[in-house]
Amino acid sequence: MSNFTTVSYKKDELNKELAKLFTTLLEQKTVDGIMVPCRQPSGTVMQTLITDPAQTAQVDPFAPVVPVSSAKLASSLTAKPSGKKIALVMRSCEIRALIELVKLNQANLDDTLLIAQDCFGRFENKDFYTLQEKNLTAESFIQAAQGGTTATDGLDVIEACTVCEHPVAANADIRLCLIGADSGTFGVEGVSAKGEQAVSDMGLSGNDGEGKRADALKTLVAARQEAFQQKFKEYQENINSFQALEENMAKCVNCYNCRVSCPVCYCKECVFVTDTFRHDGEQFLGWANHKGNLKMPTDTVFYHMTRMTHIGNFCVGCGQCTSACPNDVKLTMAFRSAAKVSQERFDYEAGRSLDEAQPLTVFHDDELVEVTGQVK
Ligand code: SF4
Ligand code: SF4
Ligand code: SF4
Repeated sequence: MSNFTTVSYKKDELNKELAKLFTTLLEQKTVDGIMVPCRQPSGTVMQTLITDPAQTAQVDPFAPVVPVSSAKLASSLTAKPSGKKIALVMRSCEIRALIELVKLNQANLDDTLLIAQDCFGRFENKDFYTLQEKNLTAESFIQAAQGGTTATDGLDVIEACTVCEHPVAANADIRLCLIGADSGTFGVEGVSAKGEQAVSDMGLSGNDGEGKRADALKTLVAARQEAFQQKFKEYQENINSFQALEENMAKCVNCYNCRVSCPVCYCKECVFVTDTFRHDGEQFLGWANHKGNLKMPTDTVFYHMTRMTHIGNFCVGCGQCTSACPNDVKLTMAFRSAAKVSQERFDYEAGRSLDEAQPLTVFHDDELVEVTGQVK
């Protein structure tokens, strides 16, 4: 039985109510710092590490924008213990990526309080800024999303979010709940023992019921699952050969933005920026001689296929790769499709549980018998 409190807010005061909760966590010394999305003077909303309880006024955790996945930021904050307790306010896809980084020893949750906000999706950065100029706020977006639409002024959330089956984080200490909430309210749910203690520190009773949350969540997830199945089917039909994959990636210029922005791309040194892929003129001319011409830069498809094999089991479908691409290469469905096949094959789901060993880090007798030839 989780502990759930409904908090009411007046029009345009959602962030004020949230700020009060974060201030209390800092004042009560429940945590020493909070990383939470905050409005910046320039109009952007970026993750911000707050240590002064008097500086929570700009928090805006439900703003529908994620300029950078906070999983890697959380990795930087926690990989080496600081001796301080940090609350991390993150979306489901960011927490799922963080779980994978913990398993890769690139993050540590010992001194963290994971606070997950319900997520109806995010806009591309430039769309978010456009909509802000037209007075989009977290509150107006939530109201529309709770009514069943995320599109506004001809712009909608990114494709990855329309097929995201995890609008609520499974692994969190506290959840900030909007799905199924009545207008002008949000829920605070203490999930783990330390989450329940923190909710109590915030001065919340934890005695309210969840209302329509379970039903609303079931409906939302079912719609997202159906949307994903449809996109997956289309992807399989359209990208059904190496040539089709090559065409899909044809605009890639090897800038590697997608690798940098991917929260689960884990190598400290990427093989594609080593001498292995710094070819010389003789090699290029040799390849060109095969067909009489050579499209450059080379290795673009090989780069994506390498990334798929490296992170296919860890991809959380966040869409940051597509968002980061300057050439509009549609990467999300490519990577989610590869991840679906790979993760299902290993009965693994990225970010589902800290207790599940990552595929290929353990050997099971009954795994991949068609490849290993293992006879039971
Ligand atoms: S993929 Fe989109 S909808 Fe899903 S948690 Fe991330 S930002 Fe939210
Ligand atoms: S491959 Fe793309 S969708 Fe998958 S985790 Fe990386 S950035 Fe997110
Ligand atoms: S961000 Fe786009 S152009 Fe750059 S490497 Fe990735 S797919 Fe290629």
